[in-house]
Amino acid sequence: MSTDGPKVLVVEDEQEIRRFLRVSLGHSGYRLVETASAKDAVLQAATQQPDLMILDLGLPDGDGLDVIREVRQWSAMPIVVLSARGQEQDKVRALDEGADDYLTKPFSVGELLARLRVALRHAAQSSDGKAAIYDVGDLRVDVASRQVHVRNKEVHLTPTEFRLLATLVKHAGKVVTHRQLLKEVWGPQSVQETQYLRVYMAALRQKIESGDSVPRYLLTEPGVGYRLYSGGAER
Ligand code: CA
Repeated sequence: MSTDGPKVLVVEDEQEIRRFLRVSLGHSGYRLVETASAKDAVLQAATQQPDLMILDLGLPDGDGLDVIREVRQWSAMPIVVLSARGQEQDKVRALDEGADDYLTKPFSVGELLARLRVALRHAAQSSDGKAAIYDVGDLRVDVASRQVHVRNKEVHLTPTEFRLLATLVKHAGKVVTHRQLLKEVWGPQSVQETQYLRVYMAALRQKIESGDSVPRYLLTEPGVGYRLYSGGAER
Protein backbone atom coordinates (compact mmCIF):
# COMPACT_ATOMS: atom_id res chain seq x y z
CA MET A 1 0.00 0.00 0.00
CA SER A 2 1.37 3.39 -0.97
CA THR A 3 2.17 5.90 1.77
CA ASP A 4 2.41 9.00 -0.39
CA GLY A 5 -0.92 8.97 -2.24
CA PRO A 6 -3.36 11.86 -1.85
CA LYS A 7 -4.54 12.48 1.69
CA VAL A 8 -8.32 12.35 2.05
CA LEU A 9 -10.30 13.64 5.02
CA VAL A 10 -13.41 11.50 5.46
CA VAL A 11 -16.22 13.16 7.42
CA GLU A 12 -18.93 10.57 7.98
CA ASP A 13 -20.77 9.29 11.04
CA GLU A 14 -21.93 5.98 9.57
CA GLN A 15 -19.42 3.33 10.59
CA GLU A 16 -20.22 1.09 7.63
CA ILE A 17 -19.60 3.77 5.06
CA ARG A 18 -16.36 4.75 6.80
CA ARG A 19 -15.23 1.12 6.69
CA PHE A 20 -16.16 0.89 3.01
CA LEU A 21 -14.19 4.06 2.24
CA ARG A 22 -11.20 2.92 4.31
CA VAL A 23 -10.96 -0.34 2.38
CA SER A 24 -11.68 0.94 -1.12
CA LEU A 25 -9.60 4.13 -0.91
CA GLY A 26 -6.80 2.38 0.96
CA HIS A 27 -6.50 -0.18 -1.83
CA SER A 28 -6.12 2.65 -4.34
CA GLY A 29 -3.27 4.29 -2.46
CA TYR A 30 -5.15 7.09 -0.72
CA ARG A 31 -4.24 8.00 2.85
CA LEU A 32 -7.24 8.57 5.11
CA VAL A 33 -7.96 10.82 8.04
CA GLU A 34 -11.40 10.14 9.54
CA THR A 35 -13.84 12.00 11.71
CA ALA A 36 -17.55 11.70 12.50
CA SER A 37 -18.15 15.26 13.65
CA ALA A 38 -18.72 18.57 11.88
CA LYS A 39 -16.73 20.53 14.42
CA ASP A 40 -13.77 18.18 14.24
CA ALA A 41 -13.95 18.21 10.42
CA VAL A 42 -13.06 21.91 10.30
CA LEU A 43 -10.23 21.37 12.77
CA GLN A 44 -8.83 18.38 10.84
CA ALA A 45 -9.13 20.25 7.53
CA ALA A 46 -7.00 23.03 8.99
CA THR A 47 -4.40 20.93 10.79
CA GLN A 48 -4.02 17.82 8.59
CA GLN A 49 -3.92 19.67 5.26
CA PRO A 50 -5.76 16.99 3.28
CA ASP A 51 -5.74 17.07 -0.53
CA LEU A 52 -9.48 16.41 -0.62
CA MET A 53 -12.48 16.09 1.70
CA ILE A 54 -15.31 13.55 1.46
CA LEU A 55 -18.20 15.01 3.42
CA ASP A 56 -21.48 13.56 4.65
CA LEU A 57 -24.16 16.24 5.04
CA GLY A 58 -26.09 14.81 7.98
CA LEU A 59 -23.69 14.81 10.93
CA PRO A 60 -24.57 14.28 14.60
CA ASP A 61 -23.28 17.67 15.78
CA GLY A 62 -24.08 19.84 12.78
CA ASP A 63 -24.76 20.30 9.11
CA GLY A 64 -22.19 19.47 6.44
CA LEU A 65 -23.20 22.67 4.66
CA ASP A 66 -21.73 24.66 7.55
CA VAL A 67 -18.49 22.72 7.19
CA ILE A 68 -18.30 23.67 3.50
CA ARG A 69 -19.03 27.33 4.26
CA GLU A 70 -16.38 27.49 6.96
CA VAL A 71 -13.66 25.62 5.06
CA ARG A 72 -14.29 27.67 1.90
CA GLN A 73 -13.33 30.83 3.74
CA TRP A 74 -9.70 29.79 3.71
CA SER A 75 -9.29 26.70 1.50
CA ALA A 76 -9.94 25.66 -2.10
CA MET A 77 -9.42 21.94 -1.39
CA PRO A 78 -11.83 19.76 -3.38
CA ILE A 79 -14.91 18.76 -1.39
CA VAL A 80 -16.97 15.76 -2.55
CA VAL A 81 -20.30 15.48 -0.75
CA LEU A 82 -22.02 12.21 0.16
CA SER A 83 -25.77 12.62 0.30
CA ALA A 84 -28.78 10.40 0.76
CA ARG A 85 -30.92 9.69 -2.29
CA GLY A 86 -33.56 12.15 -3.39
CA GLN A 87 -32.33 15.23 -1.58
CA GLU A 88 -31.83 17.39 -4.69
CA GLN A 89 -32.13 20.61 -2.72
CA ASP A 90 -29.28 19.57 -0.42
CA LYS A 91 -27.06 18.75 -3.39
CA VAL A 92 -27.79 22.09 -5.02
CA ARG A 93 -27.10 23.98 -1.80
CA ALA A 94 -23.86 22.06 -1.20
CA LEU A 95 -22.62 22.80 -4.74
CA ASP A 96 -23.65 26.45 -4.44
CA GLU A 97 -21.76 26.70 -1.13
CA GLY A 98 -18.61 25.54 -2.92
CA ALA A 99 -18.61 21.74 -2.91
CA ASP A 100 -17.00 20.31 -6.05
CA ASP A 101 -19.18 17.27 -6.57
CA TYR A 102 -21.57 14.93 -4.83
CA LEU A 103 -22.26 11.22 -4.73
CA THR A 104 -25.61 9.75 -3.84
CA LYS A 105 -25.64 6.81 -1.42
CA PRO A 106 -25.34 4.00 -2.23
CA PHE A 107 -22.47 4.50 -4.67
CA SER A 108 -19.98 2.18 -6.33
CA VAL A 109 -16.23 2.15 -5.74
CA GLY A 110 -15.61 2.81 -9.43
CA GLU A 111 -17.84 5.87 -9.41
CA LEU A 112 -16.27 7.19 -6.22
CA LEU A 113 -12.71 6.78 -7.50
CA ALA A 114 -13.57 8.43 -10.82
CA ARG A 115 -15.10 11.44 -9.05
CA LEU A 116 -12.08 11.78 -6.76
CA ARG A 117 -9.73 11.70 -9.76
CA VAL A 118 -11.71 14.44 -11.49
CA ALA A 119 -11.76 16.61 -8.35
CA LEU A 120 -8.01 16.19 -7.75
CA ARG A 121 -7.21 16.82 -11.43
CA HIS A 122 -9.20 20.05 -11.34
CA ALA A 123 -7.45 21.22 -8.21
CA ALA A 124 -4.05 20.57 -9.83
CA GLN A 125 -5.06 22.33 -13.07
CA SER A 126 -6.48 25.43 -11.45
CA SER A 127 -3.30 25.88 -9.43
CA ASP A 128 -1.00 25.68 -12.48
CA GLY A 129 -3.31 27.88 -14.59
CA LYS A 130 -3.26 25.71 -17.74
CA ALA A 131 -5.38 26.91 -20.68
CA ALA A 132 -8.60 24.96 -20.99
CA ILE A 133 -8.77 22.52 -23.88
CA TYR A 134 -11.46 19.89 -23.85
CA ASP A 135 -10.86 16.95 -26.16
CA VAL A 136 -13.10 13.95 -25.54
CA GLY A 137 -14.53 11.63 -28.15
CA ASP A 138 -15.66 13.62 -31.20
CA LEU A 139 -15.76 16.97 -29.41
CA ARG A 140 -12.87 19.40 -29.12
CA VAL A 141 -13.19 22.83 -27.48
CA ASP A 142 -10.29 25.26 -27.35
CA VAL A 143 -11.40 27.96 -24.96
CA ALA A 144 -8.55 30.40 -25.65
CA SER A 145 -9.01 30.42 -29.45
CA ARG A 146 -12.81 30.01 -29.10
CA GLN A 147 -12.84 27.10 -31.53
CA VAL A 148 -15.23 24.19 -31.31
CA HIS A 149 -14.90 21.10 -33.50
CA VAL A 150 -17.18 18.09 -33.80
CA ARG A 151 -15.69 15.18 -35.76
CA ASN A 152 -12.96 17.57 -37.04
CA LYS A 153 -15.52 20.01 -38.46
CA GLU A 154 -15.69 23.49 -37.01
CA VAL A 155 -18.99 24.34 -35.34
CA HIS A 156 -20.14 27.95 -35.07
CA LEU A 157 -21.65 29.00 -31.77
CA THR A 158 -23.22 32.28 -30.75
CA PRO A 159 -21.28 34.22 -28.07
CA THR A 160 -23.72 33.10 -25.36
CA GLU A 161 -23.64 29.47 -26.48
CA PHE A 162 -19.85 29.63 -26.37
CA ARG A 163 -19.78 31.16 -22.88
CA LEU A 164 -22.11 28.41 -21.66
CA LEU A 165 -19.95 25.67 -23.19
CA ALA A 166 -16.72 27.28 -21.93
CA THR A 167 -18.14 27.39 -18.41
CA LEU A 168 -18.92 23.67 -18.58
CA VAL A 169 -15.43 22.99 -19.98
CA LYS A 170 -13.93 24.84 -17.03
CA HIS A 171 -15.78 22.45 -14.73
CA ALA A 172 -15.65 19.37 -17.02
CA GLY A 173 -16.64 16.20 -15.19
CA LYS A 174 -18.22 18.11 -12.33
CA VAL A 175 -21.84 19.04 -11.76
CA VAL A 176 -22.52 22.74 -12.25
CA THR A 177 -25.79 23.93 -10.70
CA HIS A 178 -28.36 25.96 -12.64
CA ARG A 179 -27.59 28.90 -10.37
CA GLN A 180 -23.81 28.69 -10.97
CA LEU A 181 -24.27 28.51 -14.74
CA LEU A 182 -26.71 31.41 -14.85
CA LYS A 183 -24.40 33.49 -12.68
CA GLU A 184 -21.26 32.76 -14.71
CA VAL A 185 -22.86 33.08 -18.16
CA TRP A 186 -25.59 35.71 -17.73
CA GLY A 187 -24.52 37.44 -14.51
CA PRO A 188 -25.71 37.54 -10.89
CA GLN A 189 -28.95 39.35 -11.75
CA SER A 190 -30.10 36.33 -13.81
CA VAL A 191 -29.74 33.44 -11.36
CA GLN A 192 -33.49 32.72 -11.42
CA GLU A 193 -33.85 32.64 -15.21
CA THR A 194 -33.70 28.87 -15.66
CA GLN A 195 -35.56 29.11 -18.98
CA TYR A 196 -32.39 30.70 -20.50
CA LEU A 197 -30.58 27.48 -19.71
CA ARG A 198 -33.22 25.26 -21.23
CA VAL A 199 -33.22 27.25 -24.46
CA TYR A 200 -29.44 27.57 -24.82
CA MET A 201 -28.74 23.99 -23.73
CA ALA A 202 -31.15 22.74 -26.39
CA ALA A 203 -29.36 24.87 -29.01
CA LEU A 204 -25.93 23.65 -27.90
CA ARG A 205 -27.03 20.04 -27.94
CA GLN A 206 -28.37 20.46 -31.44
CA LYS A 207 -24.97 21.71 -32.63
CA ILE A 208 -22.77 19.35 -30.64
CA GLU A 209 -24.58 16.12 -29.92
CA SER A 210 -25.09 13.54 -32.66
CA GLY A 211 -28.87 13.73 -32.54
CA ASP A 212 -29.36 10.57 -30.50
CA SER A 213 -32.05 10.94 -27.87
CA VAL A 214 -29.47 10.46 -25.09
CA PRO A 215 -26.87 13.27 -24.90
CA ARG A 216 -23.28 12.08 -24.82
CA TYR A 217 -21.50 15.26 -23.70
CA LEU A 218 -23.98 17.70 -22.19
CA LEU A 219 -25.44 15.59 -19.41
CA THR A 220 -28.45 16.58 -17.34
CA GLU A 221 -28.29 16.13 -13.57
CA PRO A 222 -32.02 16.12 -12.80
CA GLY A 223 -33.10 18.86 -10.41
CA VAL A 224 -29.50 20.01 -9.93
CA GLY A 225 -27.76 21.22 -13.09
CA TYR A 226 -25.52 19.98 -15.89
CA ARG A 227 -22.26 18.08 -16.23
CA LEU A 228 -19.94 17.98 -19.21
CA TYR A 229 -18.82 14.39 -19.76
CA SER A 230 -15.09 14.16 -19.17
CA GLY A 231 -14.26 10.65 -20.38
CA GLY A 232 -13.55 7.46 -18.49
CA ALA A 233 -15.94 5.94 -16.01
CA GLU A 234 -17.60 9.11 -14.78
CA ARG A 235 -20.59 8.79 -16.97
CA1 CA B 1 -24.84 10.87 8.36
